[in-house]
Amino acid sequence: MRKPLVAGNWKMNGSRESIATLIGGIMEGMNSVKSAEVCVCPPYLYITEVLAKVQGSDIHVGAQDVAKEKEGAYTGEVSVDMLNDIQCNSVIIGHSERRAYYGDTDQMVAEKFSAAIGGGLRPILCVGELLEEREANKTEQVVERQLQAVVEKCGISSFKKAVIAYEPVWAIGTGKTASPEQAQDVHAFIRNWIAKSDADVAQNVQILYGGSVKSGNAAELFSQADIDGGLIGGASLDASEFLKICIAAG
Ligand code: PEP
Repeated sequence: MRKPLVAGNWKMNGSRESIATLIGGIMEGMNSVKSAEVCVCPPYLYITEVLAKVQGSDIHVGAQDVAKEKEGAYTGEVSVDMLNDIQCNSVIIGHSERRAYYGDTDQMVAEKFSAAIGGGLRPILCVGELLEEREANKTEQVVERQLQAVVEKCGISSFKKAVIAYEPVWAIGTGKTASPEQAQDVHAFIRNWIAKSDADVAQNVQILYGGSVKSGNAAELFSQADIDGGLIGGASLDASEFLKICIAAG
């Protein structure tokens, strides 16, 4: 039985003040979230403050990216060891914005994933196709290529300690959500693809959907057989909207 997970990706939004209000609002409503795990991923600068605020609650805190290198002269980077040091135990890897704007290739994503797994962090690995790739019927090919890069580096068993997020790039921040059927098809493809190498890993890995999830469409998406929750961008910046999505996942 896979536990539903809802992770909020706050991206580069907020201030100390607005983030305190946001996490306070989420904490206040957590008693209505019955069975989903809730994780928030603030900008790096605010992770320690959010960690301090959620102490003693069931909320997990993750980062939005991590360096593939261990330590040293890598200006601007943050390492797996540093995240462990502050007890931040999850990290989003391969988000389409990192792939599109910061040159994260499949190879780099695999190296970051490897660093995270090696250091005991839980990676939330994002995969997903561009609009032109979907229109050219290449969705499965693209998702397979992105997963294969990780499997070649870390092995299929690395998915025992990871989460996968299917995020069609054309649905991120656009208001265009994949239909529950479109999302389910790709989630089933991912699970079957993993099952070809290891049925047990496939059965247990959580596969989240991301792309314009809101309180109005969450329940239908999450009711699909292979959708185990969501990675939420815009809607995670509003405590009451985010909580409704977390409740829908439970
Ligand atoms: C995301 O960036 O991971 C995301 C899913 O964004 P949004 O929910 O805003 O589409």
